[in-house]
Amino acid sequence: MESINYVINPYVTIRKVGLKKYLVKQGIISSKSFVLEGDDLSEKDIHFLDKVATEHAINLSQLDCSSDLKNFLIEESILIEEYLSNTEKYYSLLNSGKENFSIENKKIGILASSSSIANQLKDNFKDTSVSTTILTIENFEKGLKGLDFIISVWGHYDSMTFHRINSVLLEKNIPFMINFIDGNTTFISPIFINQETVCYNEMEIQLESALFYKDSYLAYKNAKKIDQLNFPNFLLGQALFFSTHLTLDFLISGRLKTKNRAFIFDLESLRYDIVDILPEPYCLGCRSENKKVHDFL
Ligand SMILES: [Zn+2]
Repeated sequence: MESINYVINPYVTIRKVGLKKYLVKQGIISSKSFVLEGDDLSEKDIHFLDKVATEHAINLSQLDCSSDLKNFLIEESILIEEYLSNTEKYYSLLNSGKENFSIENKKIGILASSSSIANQLKDNFKDTSVSTTILTIENFEKGLKGLDFIISVWGHYDSMTFHRINSVLLEKNIPFMINFIDGNTTFISPIFINQETVCYNEMEIQLESALFYKDSYLAYKNAKKIDQLNFPNFLLGQALFFSTHLTLDFLISGRLKTKNRAFIFDLESLRYDIVDILPEPYCLGCRSENKKVHDFL
């Protein structure tokens, strides 16, 4: 039987802290950090953990420990297949105990308001096994074949463009996000999936409903935007981070951490809002086939 080489997950530190106690630490306040202890640990298991705590690469087939302990460490992603990328090791740890999917052949499309933003996003994925393609808004419809996800990051608010992206990607059944900066505010959308989550249209409508200055907003919304960065580049960081993080987490875990939920960060006041977007049964963006029928007609 082919033996798999396991290594200690590089995002975990294991230290011996007592006779039969081992600290497994991911971060100071991480829920993945705990003290492994118990009278169940045999001499063999203690020898094994001592080795795990001091050596980097361990071929499990050459180590002697109880299968219970071995299975536990693998299930918790503390011991992990060596061939996986660091990105996969990290997200496997966060999602340990649950099914994780390989991202080796995943393809992501990047749609951004400037080549600077697109290139920074592409750079974020360079240490992963995901491949990326930069698309242009003029003809992105033609470049969608084989893509598993589209990240869209805009340096300004552009309602018309966002609606166009929304309708095309819903029709193609490709999961996507539309994240953008408007002035000093970063908007992080939920991941949109056709018929499974809300769509961009529902997000826009519900964010609009909370505005005080509707007339001036509509004038602003409908004005043609100039496609250029007019803010210091580092302000993009948050949009780039959440775009990358939530995409990788979704592709590896298969779960929607922010289902139907948008995040709004005010970079000036440091306030943030979490906005739950209510799915609308008659949304014109994604449920237009639903017909409203009056009960008495
Ligand atoms: Zn919708």
